[in-house]
Amino acid sequence: MMLRKTAAAAAVVLALTASATACGKSGSPDDKADKAGDKAAPPVPTYKVNTAADVKDSPVFEKIKGKTITIGTKADQPGLGFEHPGTKKRSGFDVEIARMIAADLGFDEAHIKFQTIPSEARETQIASGGVDLYVGTYTINDERKKQVGFGGPYFIAGQSLLVKADSDIKGPDDLKGKKVCSATGSTPLKRIKDPKYGAAEVKAQQGYQLCAQEVVNGTVDALTTDDSILMGYAAENKGALKVVGQPFSKEPYGVGLKKDDKALRDAVNNALEAHMKNGDWKKAFDATLGRSGVAAPNPPAVDRY
Ligand code: GLU
Repeated sequence: MMLRKTAAAAAVVLALTASATACGKSGSPDDKADKAGDKAAPPVPTYKVNTAADVKDSPVFEKIKGKTITIGTKADQPGLGFEHPGTKKRSGFDVEIARMIAADLGFDEAHIKFQTIPSEARETQIASGGVDLYVGTYTINDERKKQVGFGGPYFIAGQSLLVKADSDIKGPDDLKGKKVCSATGSTPLKRIKDPKYGAAEVKAQQGYQLCAQEVVNGTVDALTTDDSILMGYAAENKGALKVVGQPFSKEPYGVGLKKDDKALRDAVNNALEAHMKNGDWKKAFDATLGRSGVAAPNPPAVDRY
């Protein structure tokens, strides 16, 4: 299941350059971001908090029960995991997935602590208990399963390329001799280093927004990561950046948690399935990633390994 554009982009979020400096003043690009596409965009759903929630035999739940849940996510990925630089409000599909799971576990918004964690720090933060859950474009794979557990998948993305609007790069086969940027600790970075792509330089940054800025500046030729992430940057830089080619990997997004906490993993999977079934998943998609004109796919089947 790959993302397809089905209509003109409805939501132009904020300009990359503005996001680093804006402080939420009235009339700033960030305010427009909140309003952009509102006519077409439905609101995010609200999730009923299960005040009687209990997860027996979960060491992590035992620790946080009746207190606060700490959820790691991204802050620089519009549509997925984004933190408004002025209001500090979190938005995006990943943030909604986190909120719906938290509600089923008994935590209302006031008892969720979101923490921005870059790709490279996910495994250590989960394993050390720095975060109780992680929801941030986190691909499930066997290598990572050696260190952490995964609920889900709750979405399937695919690796793609973001280039300047006038670039002649049309897909991964055109990367020979080019400079490509991706994030440290990510699957797309690892994949693109394969000599078969022939990149002259593969640059690693801490986050994708830094790479997108490099594409804008012309210091690299392409940013490579999941199509779901790239579409957010393309939408906020309409006319300057574009996503090209067919996705060339499968990236099933999981909810990261402590490796041996099977009870919590089961509870996360129950929550995902319940919200997929009751329509919240689709509503959350339409209100976030869907704002750029992408039709909601069918939710994937949860894999209870
Ligand atoms: N889904 C990929 C990964 O988990 C790329 C996105 C990211 O770095 O979060 O590595």
